[in-house]
Amino acid sequence: MTQPLKVDFLLLGGTIVTMDTERHVIQNGALAVKDSRIVWIGDIFQVGDQFEPAQKLDIHGKVVIPGLVNTHGHWAMTLFRGLVDDCPLEAWLEKIWKVEAAVVSAETVTIGTQLAMVEMIRSGTTCAADMYWHYPESFDAVIQAGFRMINGPSFALIPGFEDRNHQAYKAAIELLEQYKNEPLLHLYMQAHSTYMTNVKMLEDIAQIKQDRNIGFITHAAESKGEMELVHQKYGKTPIEVLDSVSLLSNTTLLAHCVHLSDAEIERLTVTGTNVSHCPSSNLKLSSGIARVADMVRAGVNVSIGTDGPASNNDLDLFHEAQLAALVQKGVSGDPTVLPAEKVFSMLTIDGARAVGLENQVGSLEVGKLADLAVIDFNAANLTPCFNLYSHFIYATSSADVCHVMIHGKMVMQNRQMLTLDEEKIKSEVRRISQQIRLI
Ligand SMILES: [Zn+2]
Repeated sequence: MTQPLKVDFLLLGGTIVTMDTERHVIQNGALAVKDSRIVWIGDIFQVGDQFEPAQKLDIHGKVVIPGLVNTHGHWAMTLFRGLVDDCPLEAWLEKIWKVEAAVVSAETVTIGTQLAMVEMIRSGTTCAADMYWHYPESFDAVIQAGFRMINGPSFALIPGFEDRNHQAYKAAIELLEQYKNEPLLHLYMQAHSTYMTNVKMLEDIAQIKQDRNIGFITHAAESKGEMELVHQKYGKTPIEVLDSVSLLSNTTLLAHCVHLSDAEIERLTVTGTNVSHCPSSNLKLSSGIARVADMVRAGVNVSIGTDGPASNNDLDLFHEAQLAALVQKGVSGDPTVLPAEKVFSMLTIDGARAVGLENQVGSLEVGKLADLAVIDFNAANLTPCFNLYSHFIYATSSADVCHVMIHGKMVMQNRQMLTLDEEKIKSEVRRISQQIRLI
């Protein structure tokens, strides 16, 4: 008789929404996790005595989903949540940059990053992209909290931050080298945008991206103002500028892409370039409405991002996904565009693909990393249930998320945060907010 396999966790009795290619859903399922990976998924009646779990989790009445992937954000901007509302992007940036110049430090970024992780874990997100100052401190905060992050050196020509120019490349490369083996960090090169950089800077970034075989993230075609600025500067659109420096590729992720021509959508399809759709931010700043249904129809991989909490103002992907679906139906006059199952794939496996992790996370499959969330389907707002995907997009709220696991470790159990001291973090953020009020 074979010995039972020692595993860290055995989840028993719930519904498992795998998001694998066949979209298998297992009713009354079980899932075993050992070290960082899923080692078994199946029917509860097949479990038998093949496992010796360190922890058993009864999940009857609950639904297990792949952890959600937030493909665009500026995490530490939690510090500026609700500070500047109801004004255009350019004026918004002016105010934010003034406050950032006064407040942003290694310490404040660490605290803002920690608050972002609390909020994301509470809403079922296990993996997210960040673009912000003091990224090495964010790396450390993430490693400590056990969250999965896509991040890396971010370049922009901003008055007052001139150190973030060509001399910074050397330091950036050293950091990419230093952190390259951290399993929770997925390193990217980043640029703020084409209007905040120049051709030389973009070419240098493209070279590092190619040399190190890593991905690239930037904002592109977000607002009409940006389109005008970029045209004045380059005589091109942001997409054309990125194309001219070989920065459109299947390892590139563009945030927003609100203002695209048919030819540009075609170019994103041909190059395999990924998009992060951020509907709250685009609507709130009146940037416009991205042609998501057209992009999806053309074969572009579109994922979903919250953008920073200063322009959203939260990091809740369930809320963001509902908005993404509703807005496309509203503007197209076609309620069949972006059906719930497709939007849920944008939150999970398409999001993982957008950040180059589709073979690691984004679906629940044996061999993949154990990044998952468990949702309490006994909630009143989820009763009754005829279609799980419908509930994920139109009815689930972050309050329904009860357990979250990242890289095989429980980071929230029964809504208790296990790796982050939520009360301490919130009180430190309130302390920083007193300083912000005086600016
Ligand atoms: Zn952004």
